[in-house]
Amino acid sequence: MKETILVVEDEVKIARLVRDYLENAGYRVLTAHRGDEGLALARSERPDLIILDLMLPGLDGLDLCRTVRRDSQVPVIMLTARADEADRLIGLELGADDYIVKPFSPREVVARVRAVLRRARGGEPEPEALRYEDLELDVAGHTAAVAGRPVELTPTEFALLAAMMRAPGRVFSRLQLLDQVQGEAYEGYERTIDAHIKNLRQKIEADPRSPRYIVTVYGVGYKLSA
Ligand code: CA
Repeated sequence: MKETILVVEDEVKIARLVRDYLENAGYRVLTAHRGDEGLALARSERPDLIILDLMLPGLDGLDLCRTVRRDSQVPVIMLTARADEADRLIGLELGADDYIVKPFSPREVVARVRAVLRRARGGEPEPEALRYEDLELDVAGHTAAVAGRPVELTPTEFALLAAMMRAPGRVFSRLQLLDQVQGEAYEGYERTIDAHIKNLRQKIEADPRSPRYIVTVYGVGYKLSA
């Protein structure tokens, strides 16, 4: 299930930009342009993370953060235009998990969201082994096998296959796969994914030209068949 991010930001353009990038990264995004609306959404929708602008109409970011913190441990990332360190410290004291100073790049926001969510899950244990039909990945040991036969995968191939094996049937765009590999997406390199997929198929498919596991979804990307 997609994680839900609530973005509370009164500058509509910024809110939209952040929303687009987060949606591209696979999150469900709710936006509010006023602090009081943000608080209502935080209570009704129980998001997995809140991105909170400091200066907001209705209820300012610090008050919103303080109010949310009374009954929730949801991770909060503060956005602030003020480079004033005192503001950041107050935010962190109120229980914000991180802050980002404007102007920021939307990619930085995505990277921070990912890092904070990972931290919030508290190093949620990765399953030792991922299995799909005859495919097997030992995540801890970094080994792969097809029908019990060991296969040598590069770190990139391993990361791609692991991402798909964690969500069989889910269609990944090239950009999303690239993101799995590099942590940050560079649109210009989307086509390099095709080369990695081709190599992976050579290694894990009985007939790479008619793949059984990694299926091409035309116009979109790839998925592990389910
Ligand atoms: Ca603002």
